[in-house]
Amino acid sequence: MTNPDLAVPLDDTPYTVAGSAERRRLRLIAGAVVVVPLLGTLLAVWLAVTGGLGALEIWSFAIGYALTLMGITVGFHRHFAHRSFLAGPAMRVVLATLGSMAGQGPLIWWVATHRRHHRLSDRDGDPHSPQLASGRGPLRALKGFWQGHIAWMFSDRISNWSLFARDMLGDRLVVRMHQLYFPIFLLGIILPAAIGGLVTGTWNGVLMGFLWGGLVRIFAVDHVLWCVGSICHMIGLRPFRARTRDHSTNNLAVAFFGFGEGLQNNHHAFPRDAYHGFRWYEPDLGAGTIRLLSRVGLVWDVVATPSHAWKLAEDRNRENPDRADRRQGAA
Ligand SMILES: [Zn+2]
Ligand SMILES: [Zn+2]
Repeated sequence: MTNPDLAVPLDDTPYTVAGSAERRRLRLIAGAVVVVPLLGTLLAVWLAVTGGLGALEIWSFAIGYALTLMGITVGFHRHFAHRSFLAGPAMRVVLATLGSMAGQGPLIWWVATHRRHHRLSDRDGDPHSPQLASGRGPLRALKGFWQGHIAWMFSDRISNWSLFARDMLGDRLVVRMHQLYFPIFLLGIILPAAIGGLVTGTWNGVLMGFLWGGLVRIFAVDHVLWCVGSICHMIGLRPFRARTRDHSTNNLAVAFFGFGEGLQNNHHAFPRDAYHGFRWYEPDLGAGTIRLLSRVGLVWDVVATPSHAWKLAEDRNRENPDRADRRQGAA
């Protein structure tokens, strides 16, 4: 392996602990990821309150939000991490590009972190569980939320890529898209700024495109997706509690804003399923997109759990939610 970024430990421990220099570097990146979009959002909101909100701001935010969130849920999550469907190279590049623009981290890092979450869900070694905080009562819940939402990014534990992402390391397209993460991420900010300038012909248009299509959009997408790790392992319905044995929940509000990502209990019970929403009232725009892409032939071999299978699991759960269902899902 010539690229030091892709050097991986050869044992099967789920994570290694970073040295002090690496820890500092990781914490600096995590700090920028949390703080910069927050500052941009505060500035954008202040400008909107004092100067109003135009169509450019609304459209650049809405289009950027829809495309990059879809890049994560359909691309990074369902295709790359769980192999829930297959796609050709052009489609895979599109999905990896949109996902990289979301600012959630490089592809292989994201996939390894996510698979570690499935393997160790709500147990020691889960990268972002809200259930491992000490203490009791509301303070413990608050500490857990903070850990699952933000603090986990400042951890010095590095997921073992040879254990969780070996298939990714052997996929040239994936490795290339992983290496191109930072320029693609920057393009996701430069593009709306350039469009804002071209549409309005003013520097104010550049600033509004940069803020609403860039930083505010990243702020919103990131926090919705971080809610999946925090809120959706704390608050919501658990129809497959016996099958999952973790604290994952179906939170319909997070599912609505996260295009299906908030249906964590369904997803932990049937991790390879491309469709996270099983019932009519479970919002899953990601599933709708995959259905559409499959209908026009852009994706295929879509993994879908037959309804009799998940209904059977749900019945077992209803009969005895505290007894572990041995037929658990695997990532
Ligand atoms: Zn989860
Ligand atoms: Zn998953």
